[in-house]
Amino acid sequence: MTEPEILYMVVPCYNEEAVLLETSSRLKEKYISLIERNMISKESRIVFVNDGSKDSTWEIIYELHESEPEFFSGVNLAHNAGHQNAVLAGLMTVKDICDMAITMDADLQDDIDTIDAMVEKYYDGNQVVYGVRNARDTDTFFKRFTAESFYKFMKVMGADVVYNHADFRLMSKRVLAELANFKEVNLFLRGMVPLIGFKSCSVYYERHERFAGESKYPLKKMLAFAVNGITSFSTKPLKLITTLGSIMSFISIVAFIWAFVVKIIGHSEKGWSSTLCSIWLIGGLQLLCLGIIGEYVGKIYAEVKQRPRYIIDKFINK
Ligand code: UDP
Ligand code: MG
Repeated sequence: MTEPEILYMVVPCYNEEAVLLETSSRLKEKYISLIERNMISKESRIVFVNDGSKDSTWEIIYELHESEPEFFSGVNLAHNAGHQNAVLAGLMTVKDICDMAITMDADLQDDIDTIDAMVEKYYDGNQVVYGVRNARDTDTFFKRFTAESFYKFMKVMGADVVYNHADFRLMSKRVLAELANFKEVNLFLRGMVPLIGFKSCSVYYERHERFAGESKYPLKKMLAFAVNGITSFSTKPLKLITTLGSIMSFISIVAFIWAFVVKIIGHSEKGWSSTLCSIWLIGGLQLLCLGIIGEYVGKIYAEVKQRPRYIIDKFINK
């Protein structure tokens, strides 16, 4: 192998004081071993992005950087920007000083030993390496069911995502430069990266349980994330509305003819229940369709405002 290249790890952290010391020591071990095997350069760093935590997360990151700046760096965001924005903030901060970057959650659910395989695939010429989980044994049935339905639904709805891949991935400097050109405010990285293209591949790993602390993705946030993913990547729901509208119009024509025939034949209908039912049905459908359109209008609103997706307070890196 020629000169080893620079790897930057980007780890978003929101209220992660319970796991940070463990995560940092395991990542450091991995870095030492990678450097010894001449797979990554000594310039490589582990960057923790503090996403406006309310606990002592930033203090821990600061301490890590002060005591071992040859391993740890930190980005402090001015407020809680959300997971996707925090990841992007980290990536955009390091894009010009690294050759490749790996994003990983702070809770040790992603398998650190997969990093070796990712880096190897990078040297094989892959610009993007997706970390794909091969089992969901450690998740509860509910989490597994909702998550798997999510990927399937996304596919049906026309957003091309890698099945069972979350945000554990390696990207090359080139890909990061292209990612910087995506100006959207509604971020859904796992949908955006496949759009960039270039040679890519997947590596498989077993996902562990969260090391400590609790999930920052309760059901409500997960649903919001799914809706965001679909509406940011596909206009299929809007097309469905049109189809639904056409079907309903057709049914109403049939119903009209039927009512007319019944009247001619002479069976006078009281017709209360059928009228009432159709009113509810049509009213419900209209509200649903308006809601879907509203989702998109809201998106457009957020996009046209062009607000910054994150605000960086500090980048500590030696
Ligand atoms: N996270 C973040 N900002 C947030 C919420 C979460 O940076 O507003 C980070 C969190 O610290 C973790 C990662 O995103 O490193 C994934 O969150 P979590 O593990 O809670 O989600 P889950 O794995 O349960 O889906
Ligand atoms: Mg997690």
